Amino acid sequence: MNFKELNFTAEVLEGLDAMRFEKATPVQEKTMPHIIAGEDLIACAQTGTGKTAAFLLPILDKLVRTGHQGTNTLIIVPTRELAIQIDQQLAGFSYFLDVSSTAIYGGNDKDEWNRQKTALTSGADIVVTTPGRLIQHLTMGYVKFDQIQHLILDEADRMLDMGFYEDIMQVVGFLPKQRQTLLFSATMPPKIRELAKEILNNPAEVTLSISKPAEGILQAAYVVYDTQKIPLINSLLKDKDLPSIIIFSSTKSNVKEITKSLVTNGFNAKSIHSDLEQAEREEVLREFKNRNIQILVATDIIARGIDIEKIDLVINFDVPRDAEDYVHRIGRTARAQTQGVALTFINEKEKLEFHKIEQLIEKVVYKVPLPPDFEDGPVYDPEEIIARRKKGKNKYGNKRNFKKKSGDQTKSE
Ligand code: AMP
Repeated sequence: MNFKELNFTAEVLEGLDAMRFEKATPVQEKTMPHIIAGEDLIACAQTGTGKTAAFLLPILDKLVRTGHQGTNTLIIVPTRELAIQIDQQLAGFSYFLDVSSTAIYGGNDKDEWNRQKTALTSGADIVVTTPGRLIQHLTMGYVKFDQIQHLILDEADRMLDMGFYEDIMQVVGFLPKQRQTLLFSATMPPKIRELAKEILNNPAEVTLSISKPAEGILQAAYVVYDTQKIPLINSLLKDKDLPSIIIFSSTKSNVKEITKSLVTNGFNAKSIHSDLEQAEREEVLREFKNRNIQILVATDIIARGIDIEKIDLVINFDVPRDAEDYVHRIGRTARAQTQGVALTFINEKEKLEFHKIEQLIEKVVYKVPLPPDFEDGPVYDPEEIIARRKKGKNKYGNKRNFKKKSGDQTKSE
């Protein structure tokens, strides 16, 4: 579908032209007609599909047509990084438009708080925010939300995972009942349905192939012992001329250790994790986006939602515990129809988890043999483990202990 078919105003089409968007992506094609028609909407779509533009463009178009009357649109997102990114995309689209927007999030100084206060008091047209910081402003009494016509919840499943249900309901209490509400989520667990029932009105529903990595991603995996993981990274990256690489790990301690080893071996690597101040995180992300850093080592803090273009390689240092996180992590590469490679390191304990991921994505990922100078890694035999478990025996032939496995990793964000 061509954007012209949606009868967008000349100004919005000009913005699209400047961003070099020619054809609508499937999520845009399916959701935009509902949004333009003013319907409430539940959209099941993952990052990398173009969902941000899907909700921004119809709203910008309406704003151009109707003019300003205070804050018109509230976009609630789980993380600061995503808030900043959406605000940046807004700035790109609205370059030719008379539309103002602001990003509201915590972790900053008094000047920033005052800037946010001014934006909320003067009624920026579009407010992109994390729930916690917005509530801090709302309770001060100066926020003007009586003209809100659109509420958008982006990455709603992530927000509920992060415990924001009550916060979202509190914010909704400050908004006019008569409004259009759009809920975007990568997954649709029952709690999302509950939230939708509470705050949406007779919504249209759009589902786009859930949990499937983009077509252009070449996926492969190495089955390794933990002690082989860091040497393998160094070996794989040696003499490779790849400008942009992300390495994900679930734990802060791994992230630090990997970065240390890479730097010691002469790589241009930096890390991003929740121990860093917000300003430091933004700086690292900026440097990486500007290609001043070749390798970014990160916890899942940036796995979802963050749009970094043209990542050549994503390495999963460990198998993500949540299969959805796998899709999000590898979604950093091959964005919007480009090519990319995603490699995952699987240790003995992670075989079953990885098998579940393969089932979810309906694809058997190729297991690459270790380089010749490495000792053999473990055998990849998840089916055998499952069969053994079904018989009630563990790998030593003993009766299986049915106690729930406690995670041996601490998720950092
Ligand atoms: P998102 O899923 O919103 O994070 O978008 C993923 C990436 O696709 C972003 O870099 C967008 O700028 C890009 N994108 C979104 N829609 C289009 C489109 N219609 N044509 C080209 N690129 C797009």
